[in-house]
Amino acid sequence: MKSSMQSARNGTLNHMLNNFACYSSHRWWVEPAMACRALFFVGGEFICPCCGWRLRTFTRGGTSFKKRPYGYCPRCNSKARHRRDWLFLQEKTNLFSERLCLLHVSPKYALSRRFANMPNIRFVGVDIEQRPYVSRLVDITDIPFESNFCDAIICIHVLEHIEQDRKAIRELYRVLKPGGWAMITVPINLDRRTYEDPTIVTPAERKKQFGEAQHVRVYGFDFKDRLKESGFEVHLDRGADIAFDTKEKYGLLDDENVFYCTKN
Ligand SMILES: [Zn+2]
Repeated sequence: MKSSMQSARNGTLNHMLNNFACYSSHRWWVEPAMACRALFFVGGEFICPCCGWRLRTFTRGGTSFKKRPYGYCPRCNSKARHRRDWLFLQEKTNLFSERLCLLHVSPKYALSRRFANMPNIRFVGVDIEQRPYVSRLVDITDIPFESNFCDAIICIHVLEHIEQDRKAIRELYRVLKPGGWAMITVPINLDRRTYEDPTIVTPAERKKQFGEAQHVRVYGFDFKDRLKESGFEVHLDRGADIAFDTKEKYGLLDDENVFYCTKN
């Protein structure tokens, strides 16, 4: 009994320290600023699933008051893709119902501000640079955690930045427990094969060829096979299959395809 109480206290302490590490890199005024801004956008047109706010229109993000259709939530700054990802996690995973260790790669603010505070989640945020909700600096092509470390992984729009993406995928597979899942998304064109060229290295040329200065490829329909190579079983949940009413209610776009990967 004593050891289990000690363990519970240590768990709580770890949770508090983790949260402190997350918040210490966080600009303190962001949350109050967004809470104030959100009051100007109250309405009945949309609901943001990430924060529950009911709003009349989305914004251009940051602390902007300017409107942008299907843009950022005025309360939590979720993008359309984050709202889509939240709904997927809520409907298709155990993230909200079971105790689990979540590895969030390059934490997205609108999601991690909630996940880091959910009592059922041991939240581990990693990135190559310090930013809100990053508790450890990690290069995901060489993850410094033991195998079978976590129960779930969220990796949203990261792999298109990584030259050795196959190595990163193998690492994600390695640190995931058998029976666990990884939600992976990337910018993708499902009508063509992956386009990459390692000789294209300048930001200007990468923007021209891959759409963004920091991207090293544009993924295509064969991305699913690239995930399978590491051992994942992969299910593609297409953004285009989301019901029209759901898109209208939550301000979603068609372009976010979710790859739900499991490890047996
Ligand atoms: Zn929101």
